[in-house]
Formats: sequence, structure tokens, C-alpha cells
Amino acid sequence: MAFVDLHLHSRFSDGTYAPEEVAAQAQRYGLAAIALTDHDSVEGCPETERACAAVGIEFIAGIELTSEQEENELHILGYCIDTHNARLLTEIARFQAVRQNRIREMVERLNRLRVPLSVDAVFALANCRAPGRPHVARALVAARLCGSLDEAFERFLKKNRPAWVPKFKMSGEKALELIHQAGGVAVLAHPGLNRTDQVIPGMVEAGLDGIECFHTKHSTVTTERYLELADRFHLLVTGGSDCHGLNKGKPLIGTVRVPYQHVEKLKARAAEIKTAALPHASP
Ligand code: AMP
Ligand code: FE
Ligand code: FE
Ligand code: ZN
Repeated sequence: MAFVDLHLHSRFSDGTYAPEEVAAQAQRYGLAAIALTDHDSVEGCPETERACAAVGIEFIAGIELTSEQEENELHILGYCIDTHNARLLTEIARFQAVRQNRIREMVERLNRLRVPLSVDAVFALANCRAPGRPHVARALVAARLCGSLDEAFERFLKKNRPAWVPKFKMSGEKALELIHQAGGVAVLAHPGLNRTDQVIPGMVEAGLDGIECFHTKHSTVTTERYLELADRFHLLVTGGSDCHGLNKGKPLIGTVRVPYQHVEKLKARAAEIKTAALPHASP
């Protein structure tokens, strides 16, 4: 049987792998298809697609958007998106600007705490449009201002710690709409992590296409619960490791084995969404 991993991050958001490494690791674990789902970014998609093609792995262009619905944080995955879609690119450029300004503000806070980190050091290390807290943590360690990434988060960067800065989030409905108009399939990421079951019916009403049932942090019981929920609401099933490379201990790619059949269904839905979006397609 063929397996896939539909939730991977690269160095273009908060992962550490370059596109070639993502493809090489996918090949090492014998995956038939992968999706790149960087936070607020599609910057890594073209290169990852090329690297996958070179080793005979099917590539699915994806993204992970952070949203908020009824005060719950929801991560929405978009699959088979058109990475050249003008509105998608305009909107994510705004979220990338928010991320970059947030880095400046976090560094200012650190400086006020007499931690002499430079904002240029963080941007140089991040070297991408969608930098985040892991880059600040890595820059703190590189400058020997913290002993470890854990220490950086514990002392400064975790929610409500002194250098933490909240981040603006779009609504869940907006995330769905943005993905759909870019021809993509919208999937609720790791619902077991955010404990957001109560918002699922409303999100289904708003057009949610699927649930990420298989995830590194879902227990077997949790996975079963979401498989049942997906069945009840007629939703697609997806899954992935949420691998961030070497950022959080050992790489997770290949540890969640999702059967290929889910990719077939995902692609069929993407084709429907794209047809519906054509001007003369619907009666
Ligand atoms: P951001 O999008 O900038 O808020 O950063 C979120 C990223 O930081 C996610 O990939 C998290 O996994 C990572 N992160 C959050 N808390 C911690 C922590 N305590 N230790 C290590 N990484 C963390
Ligand atoms: Fe992440
Ligand atoms: Fe997530
Ligand atoms: Zn993720």
C-alpha cells in the first residue's frame, strides 16, 4: 500500500528543512505523495515541487492558515491551491508583514529586558517571508543569549511571557473562503490539539471540506473520534506528521502513515472546487 504525508513545514516557515531535504526525507520513508503546508506562505512550493518530481514523488501545493473562530484558534490547511492566485498572494503578504512586524516588536521587548538581540540577526537567520517565534528562539541560542530553544520559549516567547506578542488572526470563515477562491480544498488541522469540536458544525456550514484525522499528536482514540466525525459530516479525511524538521527534537516526517486513497478523494474535491469557480461552469 502507498502512504502519504500531507502536513509538512520547510525553512520557508518554521521548519528547518530546505525543499530538497523535504523531498529526500519523503523518499527515504517511501512516501508516494507529500504536501508542503508552511504557515502563511507558499514560498517553498515551486522548489519542493521540482525536488519531488526529481525523485518521483507526487507533490501537493498547500498552506496552513491560522484563524480564530469563537475565540478558538483554528489552523486551516489548504490543499491543491493555485500558488499564483492573486488574492491569496495579496492576503498572505499581509500576514507575512504582520509576522515581520511582530518579530521587530518581540526583539524590542527583548532589548528592553536587556537582552541584546538584533532584529537583523533574526531576519538573516529566518531568511523567509513568514518568520515566527522559532526563528527568534534560534537567534537567541545562536547569539548565546539562551542555552536552548526550550529556554528561549520558557523565559521569553511562550504566551504571556515578557517578549511574547499576540498575532492578528483572520476568522475561520475567511480562511475557508480564501482557500476556496484559490481553487483549494480546506481542511481543519489537528482538531485534537486545539480542542475545537464545538466549532466544527459551523465550519462545515461555512464550507469546510475535511478534517485532519491522522496527526502525530492524535492518539488512536482521538483519530477514531475524528474519523467518525468526518463520516457523520461527509468530510474528507487527511493526515500528516506536522514535521518541522529538526526544530522540535527528532524529525517527524514518515511517522504518520496515511493511505494514498485519501489523496485521490482530495484531488477529486479540488477538481470540483476549480470547476465551480469557473465563470460558466454552474447553471
Ligand atoms: P508563531 O507562529 O510565530 O507564533 O510560532 C509558532 C511556532 O512556535 C510553532 O511551530 C510552535 O510549534 C513553536 N512553539 C510554540 N511554543 C513552543 C515551545 N514552547 N517550544 C518550542 N517551540 C514552540
Ligand atoms: Fe508550525
Ligand atoms: Fe498547526
Ligand atoms: Zn503545521
